[in-house]
Amino acid sequence: MTTGSKTRSVAIVGAGPVGSLMAVYFANRGWNVHVYETRPDMRLPENKAKIQNRSINLALSVRGLTALKGTGLALDELVMKSGLPMRGRMLHIGSEGQLVSQDYGVHSECINSVDRAKLNEDLISAAEELNNVQFSFDVALKRADLDKGTLELENKTTKETIKAHADLIVGCDGAYSAVRNSLMRYVRLDFEQGYIPHGYCELSIPAKIGANGEAEFAMDPEHLHIWPRHKFMMIALPNPDKSFTVTLFMPFANFEMIHNKDDLLKFFEEYFTDAIQLMGKDLLIKEYFKNPKGSLVMVRANPYHYKDRCIILGDAAHSMVPFYGQGMNCGFEDVRILDSLLSEFNVKSTRESDSDRSLEQALDAYTARRAKDLKAICELALYNYTEMRHSVTSPVYLMRKTVESW
Ligand code: FAD
Repeated sequence: MTTGSKTRSVAIVGAGPVGSLMAVYFANRGWNVHVYETRPDMRLPENKAKIQNRSINLALSVRGLTALKGTGLALDELVMKSGLPMRGRMLHIGSEGQLVSQDYGVHSECINSVDRAKLNEDLISAAEELNNVQFSFDVALKRADLDKGTLELENKTTKETIKAHADLIVGCDGAYSAVRNSLMRYVRLDFEQGYIPHGYCELSIPAKIGANGEAEFAMDPEHLHIWPRHKFMMIALPNPDKSFTVTLFMPFANFEMIHNKDDLLKFFEEYFTDAIQLMGKDLLIKEYFKNPKGSLVMVRANPYHYKDRCIILGDAAHSMVPFYGQGMNCGFEDVRILDSLLSEFNVKSTRESDSDRSLEQALDAYTARRAKDLKAICELALYNYTEMRHSVTSPVYLMRKTVESW
């Protein structure tokens, strides 16, 4: 097909964190960008309650911040305006809740607790402000013809079918990616999907009211708090409103043993005594029985692309368990690395002739260079569950600073 010298177009499927950031990067390169998202616009108040996110907050690391900064729009600074730096992990050992602080680094290195929804909204708005980016919400990709560059989408409200076209299709549509399903029909894609037997439930520790009547954190906000209980664990990350979002990770078999509030309180009294006081029994009971018990899926795929037609990034390419706090960070890094390869292979925003192979070369290089790192980070993420729920309590770790109070 002859493309002439018209501006290249990219269809990004998924306006999650990775798809929205990718839109900014392509727009910066002068491409015409159209983002298709199956959910309604999460920024509109009437849609907020409808949208079920995978977590309330998450840890943003230097890997992710570097990619945000790379947009040249100071998105790292924007996101960090409400981000809370966590300089180490705080272990709550034993039922008495003895505290042990373990710094992440010797040079004050931090990871940062950020509000997932706000981060996503900020990225969508940043992309939408660029005049070569368009968003369509409430439309789900059904299938794509990668040779023709056509997408078949469904309007979720009217159920009507929408056809679209793009020179390049980028799948940022998460672990159950529809783009990846189409990609499989075009390349010999090795694909693995698996679940760990553990799930998660989100709970919270509200702010406490201090002596002066103002909201205060109930625990040290400069730490990621961990209650390591060997076969399971609970963690807590601070929020700007001085609450903590708590996540209980444990085997589904254990969740299934908790039938009523007496079972729940008995379990928490045995394993998380100090947390019960901070959460408050009523809130704990309400949230535990109301909130879903999420599963943890792992996805591996290779290759990530087809010719110069399609590529998958973020969770669509490598969903990992959340224990290393790197899933989204790594997706942001995918975006930064793809962008650097587009520069390295001198991919222009217009395709001048049919003999221009620069985009295909860049995508080939992406799969070749990225696969080893992505495999490694998925393995590290899985390993880090054992680290967080068990190994952190080994005597070597516990020789480090013990905190009486903060
Ligand atoms: P997603 O966030 O899944 O976004 C995909 C988007 O595509 C969604 O908006 C979806 O609606 C849309 N979509 C799906 N299908 C279609 C379709 N057919 N058509 C159109 N649109 C579609 N990562 C970290 O870096 N740090 C953390 O601390 C962290 N904590 C986590 C805690 C938990 C409990 C979990 C479960 C995950 C955590 N992660 C963390 C991982 C992180 O959530 C993911 O890696 C990240 O959300 C991936 O972003 P994404 O944009 O690739 O995919």
